[in-house]
Amino acid sequence: MAELACDVAIVGAGPVGMTLANLLGHQGIRTLVLERQPGLFDQPRAVGTDYDCLRAWQAVGLSTELLRDMLPSGHDGMGLVYCDPQRRPFLEIRPDRRPYGFAEGYGFIQPKVDRVLLTGLRRFPWVALRFGHAVERVTQGATCVRLSGRSSLQRPFCVRARYCVACDGGRSRVRHGLGIEMHAARFAQRWLVLDTLEPESPTRNLRDVQIWCDPERPAVSVPRLYGHRRFEFLARPDESDAELLDPERIHALLALHAAADEIRVLRKVVHTFRACLAKRFRSGRVLLAGDAAHVTPPFAGQGLAIGIRDAFNLAWKLAMVVRGEAVPALLESYERERRPHASASLRLALRLGHLMTPRSRLQASLVPWLVRSLIRAPTLRRYLREAGPKPAPRYPRGCFVRGRGFAGHLMVQPGMARGAGGRAPLDELLGPGFALLGFGFDPRRVLPRDERCFWGRRRARLLEVLPRDSRRSCNEACIRDVDAGLEGWLGSLHERLVVVRPDRYVALDCRLQEAGPKLLALREQLAGRAA
Ligand SMILES: Cc1cc2nc3c(=O)[nH]c(=O)nc-3n(C[C@H](O)[C@H](O)[C@H](O)COP(=O)(O)OP(=O)(O)OC[C@H]3O[C@@H](n4cnc5c(N)ncnc54)[C@H](O)[C@@H]3O)c2cc1C
Repeated sequence: MAELACDVAIVGAGPVGMTLANLLGHQGIRTLVLERQPGLFDQPRAVGTDYDCLRAWQAVGLSTELLRDMLPSGHDGMGLVYCDPQRRPFLEIRPDRRPYGFAEGYGFIQPKVDRVLLTGLRRFPWVALRFGHAVERVTQGATCVRLSGRSSLQRPFCVRARYCVACDGGRSRVRHGLGIEMHAARFAQRWLVLDTLEPESPTRNLRDVQIWCDPERPAVSVPRLYGHRRFEFLARPDESDAELLDPERIHALLALHAAADEIRVLRKVVHTFRACLAKRFRSGRVLLAGDAAHVTPPFAGQGLAIGIRDAFNLAWKLAMVVRGEAVPALLESYERERRPHASASLRLALRLGHLMTPRSRLQASLVPWLVRSLIRAPTLRRYLREAGPKPAPRYPRGCFVRGRGFAGHLMVQPGMARGAGGRAPLDELLGPGFALLGFGFDPRRVLPRDERCFWGRRRARLLEVLPRDSRRSCNEACIRDVDAGLEGWLGSLHERLVVVRPDRYVALDCRLQEAGPKLLALREQLAGRAA
């Protein structure tokens, strides 16, 4: 049996595995994706995503195409409307800001996203995807990982890789094989999940996510484009799956909230929502990402988004380690950064789940009353309506140099201008690697030679940022803050150095005078003492 070789083997071609493969492909890393199914799983699971995912897809040049079939949140777009048992809205979340270059949330049709991600992989001859390859065993030595299994033609296969990422979903076989257990919250709820299609109509609310917090039958409707809609109904303890899936029962449930006669059910399934987090995200050369590392109920619409964040966080670290530009210890920051965020997202989903599924009539009337009273306070109202309660995109610990500034925060993405060229979103100008931004100075001229060499070997971009009102002309190594978006976020731009990671988190933010030791500290995190 021939042994296939690659730098990174990915188990599972779900959205997380394919996003990671696109990111690695973009970095030129030899990648092999192994998927047990004979083709893409052509059914939607996730129906909502957010700005962070779009930013990862933007980094691999796919966001424009993906956005065509997405419904953005905002005043003119999708909102989240919580209704009391009398169907009266008591909380509307309609975030309208776009600090990161994309809307806060999007409704989407997952099979379309999966297809775009798959097509995206074809751009990279060094990335291969093998359908019909079920991984059964993963073993590892000091220098490599070996994956073995059986193809759908019952032929055994074996793969040798330097690293393996398990993106094989909530029941991850790889995770089981490594003996990594899941911390499970005491939570398991059965929901009837329906994907439907109906004629689009201006009189119907196919714009907002509606959440009916009714103790009799909590339910959710999530609109998407082209008349697609997801309905979810909480199962009662005494209802069997067969009863729930009965067409008459489905018609009666749909009729509670919609014109049931006009709705075609495309897919129906009873799903048990759980909340669990792997005890570790890594064992040696094998890392877990997506549902393999954490499973969340969908109440915050974050299951997929957490996984895409994992992929964005991990891809550049793996690429740098594989290319020998960073020490393997860099990979330790993956779990350090991603775990607290995943855990906070899980807790949020559970809290929203409690809000959506009141146990009694009393609770069902108290919660709306409490929320209505609380949002009388303008600050809280603004926070809930404009930002939503999602965990902030910020890491308390990880691969960055802590200080007074924005290190550890996700960088905003305002519109910028470069050279004689027109406007472009910031990320398009930063490139695929690190970017060193000098505010009030040109880092190519001011930073010492050894510093420039270190970053040059890592293909970093060194750019000077001019304030909006600067009279200086902008050359190719210079970008202009045309909308004052960076100034609005960072405050003072005077003699400041900001280093942005490939996943757009700020690695370093300091005054130019302190840059020497701070840059050294960052270089040590990447390249160890040799830096
Ligand atoms: C009903 C429902 C609603 C949801 N709604 C939302 C939502 O609104 N928003 C949101 O963000 N998330 C939502 N989610 C969660 C979201 O679907 C998952 O978080 C997401 O699909 C996880 O992606 P993944 O790539 O990690 O795993 P998966 O999509 O599960 O993909 C794993 C892949 O690995 C393959 N595989 C498994 N074992 C092997 C093996 N041994 N060898 C090779 N291949 C293997 C599988 O065939 C599969 O293709 C929802 C989930 C459900 C069930």
